[in-house]
Amino acid sequence: MNRGNLRIDGGRLRTAMEEMATIGATAGGGVQRLTLSDEDKQARDVLMKWLNEMDLELMIDEMGNIFGKRGGKGNKLSPVMVGSHMDSQPKGGRFDGILGVMGALEVLRTLNDNGVETNRPIIIVDWTNEEGTRFSPAMVGSGVWAGQLDRDWVYGRVDINGKRFDEELERIGYKGDQPAEKWPVHAYYEYHIEQGPVLEREKKLIGVPKGIVGIHWYDIYVEGTANQVGPTPMEGRNDALCAGAEMILKVNELPAKMGGNMVATVGEIHNSPNSRNIIPDWIHFTVDIRSWDDELATRAWEDLKMDFGGIATRRGCPIRIEETWEVGHTPFDNRLVKRVVDTADQLGYPNHSMVSGAGHDATYMSQVAPTAMIFVPSIGGRSHVEVENTRWEDCEAGANVLLHCVLRSALEV
Ligand SMILES: [Zn+2]
Repeated sequence: MNRGNLRIDGGRLRTAMEEMATIGATAGGGVQRLTLSDEDKQARDVLMKWLNEMDLELMIDEMGNIFGKRGGKGNKLSPVMVGSHMDSQPKGGRFDGILGVMGALEVLRTLNDNGVETNRPIIIVDWTNEEGTRFSPAMVGSGVWAGQLDRDWVYGRVDINGKRFDEELERIGYKGDQPAEKWPVHAYYEYHIEQGPVLEREKKLIGVPKGIVGIHWYDIYVEGTANQVGPTPMEGRNDALCAGAEMILKVNELPAKMGGNMVATVGEIHNSPNSRNIIPDWIHFTVDIRSWDDELATRAWEDLKMDFGGIATRRGCPIRIEETWEVGHTPFDNRLVKRVVDTADQLGYPNHSMVSGAGHDATYMSQVAPTAMIFVPSIGGRSHVEVENTRWEDCEAGANVLLHCVLRSALEV
């Protein structure tokens, strides 16, 4: 058949997505598959079963990244890689990440069904811990593989219950023996839901990001003095939570203050001892700053630190700051980005050039290989929530774009 007429099977893609959505399904219609949890293991087991049925060369590395290689005519040629992640946020959605892995799987199934031979091998990948919720930071599987994060540092990260990353990886049986080390890659494609409102607003089917914003993560620890709330007068208190409250508002006001294109968020807070009877003596909260302009983000952080310092001194609540993670903005490969646009055009799908405000494994992959992403609309722009949704026909369209982009790259010599 004419390769241009190849299409993925939208029904089969939906079935795979629906089966995955049963693993860690939540009452509110979402999923909770935290990294290296029992649910993560279950999803991996299902993926492994499906990959095995396709007669791929399978490999699991020491970070738990799963690779399945479909050979090409020139098996010595560097492969095309395609994939995403299967872990989720707590009470997360059914599409984030998993669509990119199931989309890649559907692409390989389509090529197999049609007996399509490519010059280059194609490797499907499921990256470990993209979300960074249970173990921070995010995107550690691709980060270590790409040589941008240290394996042993990631191994030593602990979750809120004091469980270590490497022990949990071992416990679920996915600590492979292959080193997590990059190899030459001809092209990397990642298919993902948009997770924002732009495509819906623009009434476009396919989003083509030119890159990903820079992301800066900080952890702030504020110390106060605990005391009985009744007998302790208001003057002279060292209330860690009140100090934190002032700091959090500074974070919220930061983008307007700095101008330019930026967002800043506090999404997580822990208060101790968390009793209505005791003045809080310790809090921990996170700060997330994102911008396409790395310099602006850095200046914003310096400004914020000054404000934090002032508040801490005034309230007599010392702070400790951990600069947890920082990645600069990531421009994608112009040629591959254009290929996504051209492919969408040829398939008759209205498309839109944009910037990704969310981080993805593509961030680290773009340091290893020419990289591009394909977005499809999120209904209502909602993501990282249980109501996260994307129309099935849109999932199918995006997977067809993925198919033809992958195919073109894999036919190159
Ligand atoms: Zn994701």
